[in-house]
Amino acid sequence: MTFLQQSVHSFYGYQCVVKPAVPLTPNLLAASQTRYEASKILLKYNSRQNLLLVTTQDIAHRKSATQPEYGIFGLDYRPGTTCVVSTFRLQRHVSRAKMLERLEKVALHEIGHNLGLPHCTLNKHCMMQAAQGTIKQVDLEKVWFCEACRAKLR
Ligand SMILES: [Zn+2]
Ligand SMILES: [Zn+2]
Repeated sequence: MTFLQQSVHSFYGYQCVVKPAVPLTPNLLAASQTRYEASKILLKYNSRQNLLLVTTQDIAHRKSATQPEYGIFGLDYRPGTTCVVSTFRLQRHVSRAKMLERLEKVALHEIGHNLGLPHCTLNKHCMMQAAQGTIKQVDLEKVWFCEACRAKLR
């Protein structure tokens, strides 16, 4: 069983299967052409079954053509069934164990959005806090949802 399978199962109770890898094709590149546009990945691989896409490639997002493109850890449909997370921005200057700890929190955050949760403003240790591209926020979080977020999940 993979690390993320175990994490998702222990946090949400879902049984996860690891699907064969899917390609990130050039048409999924962001406007900068240097990284992938997460919304294009979601659109291409949107699934009727819950699907967590994991990539080692850098992903970015821009909300519209007039907005700047910015690097992200993950993106999701809210609510929805599909989300994508990238290890690219989680691994710099840290051990694999630390990267995995971050990946777990980012993945559980995106799945929370799939389940309809908005960002949390109540507790800085809650995984539903908006990271806004800062790894410091992810590192501040625990593998934990605050009471208010857990109540919304039910
Ligand atoms: Zn979020
Ligand atoms: Zn919360």
